[in-house]
Amino acid sequence: MSYDWKAALVFVGTLALLSAVGRFLAFQVPALQRMRALNREADRAKLSRDRFRAVVKDNNRVGLITNLVFYVTILPLCVNLEPRPLWRQGVDIVGVLLVFDLFYYLTHRFVFHGRLLRKVHALHHQARTPTYIDALYVHPLETFIGLVLFLGSIPLITAVTGGPLNAFGMAVATLTFTQLNQLNHTYVNLPYFPFKTVDYITSIHAAHHVDMNQGNFATLTMLYDWLFGTLEQPVSRPAP
Ligand SMILES: [Zn+2]
Ligand SMILES: [Zn+2]
Repeated sequence: MSYDWKAALVFVGTLALLSAVGRFLAFQVPALQRMRALNREADRAKLSRDRFRAVVKDNNRVGLITNLVFYVTILPLCVNLEPRPLWRQGVDIVGVLLVFDLFYYLTHRFVFHGRLLRKVHALHHQARTPTYIDALYVHPLETFIGLVLFLGSIPLITAVTGGPLNAFGMAVATLTFTQLNQLNHTYVNLPYFPFKTVDYITSIHAAHHVDMNQGNFATLTMLYDWLFGTLEQPVSRPAP
């Protein structure tokens, strides 16, 4: 096991670059620009409340510190820059995402909706018609737990596969995690080709916000809700 700080730096740079390029390309599409404007308008009204702004600020601060500590201490032990065949990259990326999604499903269903942290999680559930900013309207303890579950999946898959993972591959896994988590809370009303999948993804998590104890506890895929019988069908959403 070696401390590869260069690989960790490449991870952070790739993540920032892919996020910026992805955002730029996505918002060249007029339909997505329209949805962004709708979300921004609703977000502005929510952020005008001091209490709302304070929660988002605390969430961001905890997220930043948790990420930075992980990037400096654990990540350099888990990644390197050795090239991998594409299939291996795919297996590592899907492995990290599926392990996290299982951890998150169990934690969300039994801890956040269980007795232990129900009140903590209730803060996030104040949003009945989620928009973009509600992904960040989360109690700092919940933010910390969620991030630890995701970041912890990286050393776990490193240990299981017997060695460091590729820094680019892990940046793609992390980008997928952050973007899907954000997309889940975005208001989208585009139920036609080619946006049907995006529309469906957002409406699945919106159903959890409408009727919070029924189902849709996972955050990246519908696999575990389907497997454990908690998959709830999307609901039609009023405009925010
Ligand atoms: Zn949510
Ligand atoms: Zn919930």
